[in-house]
Amino acid sequence: MSPEIVLEQPIANVTPQTGFDRDSFNTYVMNTYGRFPIAIAKGEGCRLQDTEGKEYLDFVAGIATCTLGHAHPKLIEVVSKQIQKLHHVSNLYYIPEQGELAKWIVEHSCADKVFFCNSGAEANEAAIKLVRKYAHRVLDFLEQPVILTAKASFHGRTLATLTATGQPKYQKDFDPLVPGFAYVPYNDIEAVENAIADLDEGNRRVAAIMLEPLQGEGGVRPGNIDYFRRLRQICDQNNVLLVFDEVQVGVGRTGKLWGYENLGVEPDIFTSAKGLAGGIPIGAMMCKQKCDVFEPGSHASTFGGNPFACASGLAVLQTIESDNILENVIARGEQLRAALSAIVVQFPELFVEVRGWGLINGMEIRESAPFTSADIVNAALAEGLLIAPAGPKVLRFVPPLIVTEAEVNEAVAKLKIAMSKVLHH
Ligand SMILES: *Cc1c(COP(=O)(O)O)cnc(C)c1O
Repeated sequence: MSPEIVLEQPIANVTPQTGFDRDSFNTYVMNTYGRFPIAIAKGEGCRLQDTEGKEYLDFVAGIATCTLGHAHPKLIEVVSKQIQKLHHVSNLYYIPEQGELAKWIVEHSCADKVFFCNSGAEANEAAIKLVRKYAHRVLDFLEQPVILTAKASFHGRTLATLTATGQPKYQKDFDPLVPGFAYVPYNDIEAVENAIADLDEGNRRVAAIMLEPLQGEGGVRPGNIDYFRRLRQICDQNNVLLVFDEVQVGVGRTGKLWGYENLGVEPDIFTSAKGLAGGIPIGAMMCKQKCDVFEPGSHASTFGGNPFACASGLAVLQTIESDNILENVIARGEQLRAALSAIVVQFPELFVEVRGWGLINGMEIRESAPFTSADIVNAALAEGLLIAPAGPKVLRFVPPLIVTEAEVNEAVAKLKIAMSKVLHH
């Protein structure tokens, strides 16, 4: 066995790659992303450095993924040790790290059981399969189960999750989509009641409703508490499963460990991925006992729940707890929303509102404003601040959960400079 790594400030000693050959990249890599013209070479905390040596304050965090920021000492220690010990074995055998992570999640959530995979789309795909199996086995009068999802939702890019995603722009060119989905407007209880009644007329069809507690990609729109409370009742009365996609809002992002805690209801099934292992690929699908209907052979994933990913996930969750990170998320979120709201008050002709929970926040730009979210994102990048669009008119702020008070102030200062440059061009 190799000796354990002695960690001696590895971050400061890393020499980043300099000089990046963008033409070569574009020659060999598929053109699936509209990329900003920089390449990131290294990171520490909430800061990144590109291949030219320019520094950025990171309010994207790999899209709400780098929970503990970059090069966090605890994550470095755990992944270094784990890769020396054991990084992958098949689920043909028991994996102790998987059991420990599942236990932590169950003890800190409303779930009874966990299935592990590698991404958000896969976690949602597993949830969709679990709903269908539950429908065929438990609601056996239901032959063609339908899952209701919301318009403007985002659930992933596999065929089933793309179909679940209520945004035609993502589905274009990928027909035929997967049958068994129908769409309702978000936060609209009457629409759900009507959809269940329409679809169920004479022939029961709705097996589940799958929603994000806060719509991330679709414009950072928080769920309405009254809507979700009523929805829980409707689901209970009609034996419809309530499924939450917590891929973006779970794992402390909202200031609570799970997104559903903001809504005062518990889902029957929920999914997690992005922030769960702080940037190491992982996905998880959780369910309550009553819908724990998978059996050997029902579902599987070669990489899912391997020792490396699970040790990383456990390190992230334990650090959130031991370092009181949720307190920071709440305080920094309030600070950020207050600062952004002051900009909205100052420029009501340009901005609609600021909304969000904890450290997932959106700033909506007026339709009539002479710029888009991409214009501001580009200008911010030039000022050394990374933020992400959530649609053409919403700016999304999802920094690492360890962001400091000074970093929030710095980000807002850079954002203001970026905005004034966009306005005066
Ligand atoms: C990012 C995201 C997904 C997809 O996750 P991948 O890991 O990219 O497959 C699904 N649902 C929500 C809410 C997301 O934000």
